[in-house]
Amino acid sequence: MDRIEKICVEKGLRMTGQRRVITRVISESDDHPDVEEIHRRAAEIDPRISIATVYRTMRLLEDYEVVQRHDFNDGHGRSRYEEITDTHHDHLIDVRSGEVVEFMNDEIERLQEKIAREHGYKLVDHRLELYGVPLKPEEK
Ligand SMILES: [Zn+2]
Repeated sequence: MDRIEKICVEKGLRMTGQRRVITRVISESDDHPDVEEIHRRAAEIDPRISIATVYRTMRLLEDYEVVQRHDFNDGHGRSRYEEITDTHHDHLIDVRSGEVVEFMNDEIERLQEKIAREHGYKLVDHRLELYGVPLKPEEK
């Protein structure tokens, strides 16, 4: 049983064969795929899985807080997904290729807490998205 499947079972989500394939695909992905990409990968394992099933399953996994949905402003307009883990990270999105780089910066984390505190809040969550294009060799 992979990590996501175990969490689903713990949360009381009934696991069918097709859902198991979809959770396996997400477990093995580290590139924030969209529904079409998840469907393409899942169909390689079980060709009977329809795109509608993937859509439904992703909505369910999101409701059960097993996956996180990202609506990056990368010009593609498609939601992308990743497994929710204990380790926090932020995202840098390549607006040309749609590639996503994960990063964690202690200075930014501290600064965000400081800003919240200055406004009388204790920070409980945040999302940070950076958008960029690759540097040309002469800009490096
Ligand atoms: Zn991520």
